[in-house]
Amino acid sequence: MKRGIAILGSTGSIGRQAIEVLQLHPDRFFVTALTAHRNAALLFEQVRALRPRLAALTGEEAQVPADLSFCEFRFGPHALEEVAAQAEGEDVLAAVVGVAGLKAVMAARKAGKRVLLANKETLVAGGQMVMNACPPGSLFPVDSEHSAIFQCLQGAGPNPYEKILLTASGGPFRTWDKAAIQTATVAQALGHPTWNMGAKITVDSASMFNKALEIIEAKWLFDARPEQIQVVVHPQSIVHSAVQFRDGAVIAQLGSPDMKVPILYAMSYPERLETGAKELNLFALGQLTFEKPDTDKFPAIRMAYEALKAGGAAACVLNAANEEASYAFLQEKIPFGRIPEIVAEALQRHGHLPADALADIDRADALARETARAMLD
Ligand code: NDP
Ligand code: MG
Repeated sequence: MKRGIAILGSTGSIGRQAIEVLQLHPDRFFVTALTAHRNAALLFEQVRALRPRLAALTGEEAQVPADLSFCEFRFGPHALEEVAAQAEGEDVLAAVVGVAGLKAVMAARKAGKRVLLANKETLVAGGQMVMNACPPGSLFPVDSEHSAIFQCLQGAGPNPYEKILLTASGGPFRTWDKAAIQTATVAQALGHPTWNMGAKITVDSASMFNKALEIIEAKWLFDARPEQIQVVVHPQSIVHSAVQFRDGAVIAQLGSPDMKVPILYAMSYPERLETGAKELNLFALGQLTFEKPDTDKFPAIRMAYEALKAGGAAACVLNAANEEASYAFLQEKIPFGRIPEIVAEALQRHGHLPADALADIDRADALARETARAMLD
């Protein structure tokens, strides 16, 4: 049987790789819907090639070419939720960037869809509310580390894990001194050593706010207590994460760094299909190295644990302030070192807010952004 998949954010790094990998298996998957924010040209090209019945451009309106009349196009931010809920088929790949994906993920779940989640900001901001909407078997991680943890837990049976070893490449500034990191340029921040990704997550990797978001993501996906999550810096990005059990066994998932592997695993689970990923050559690698994260140079990691401890909307505030600060950095409005300062201030001011319902999350998100924007000047 073919699985129908709606791809939210199909023009992005994850979206494009998802299309590449599902095109290897036309007998297994078909695309039910596609969305982009502003890149109408690529969206039209994708619609022409994949022939979904539904598509959306969420950031602006555009004239639809005449030859695409087989597809219904929707426009504007609400179209994301509509596509998530109304696309045919079982699966929705959430690959938009930022908290913009939250309402769409909730809408997908309300419509009974399986959610394949790349869009970690949604889980970080929505936390408990998202998990309440996701019974077992309805939410599959795409993030490579969380896919790795999920894979390591297959076969664990009733045995609880003791600890999650969440690996991190350390980003381009791992070996820089603290003062130099403060004034890093946009070009330097965008030069990720091992992964080729969208601009926002690449900046997050440089500041290690990506790992902060992933600590929080792991908490929700695997029902982990904060002290059960250990970040391990592993610059080669070969061990994608590991899980430790009480008998001392540690099970890790390894492979060449290629997002097509976790993307396809979420789509084909529990089956494994061909991805075209480069075979792992341990002899060529020679050695794998591991380090403790430096939370003095990268305060993001510390802030994630603080946000988990605070609970409520603290993680939502961390995410929103980081989104604002990271985009401000990308637009060269603030120096790199200002990103954690802005997030810290937002957490300080709004970290105590509740997150019981979508309205609470919206409010915390808005207040955090307001504080962050006020600090840009
Ligand atoms: P990109 O920036 O490459 O792509 C983002 C996609 O979302 C594009 O299709 C973009 O459309 C669309 N989009 C942007 N803003 C909005 C918005 N406000 N509303 C609706 N759609 C929007 O991001 P990535 O693919 O790198 O990342 C996507 C998500 O996956 C992020 O949450 C990221 O953290 C996560 N992730 C990414 C990894 C990677 O390797 N790239 C690895 C692990 C997780 P348009 O092209 O028109 O702007
Ligand atoms: Mg990751």
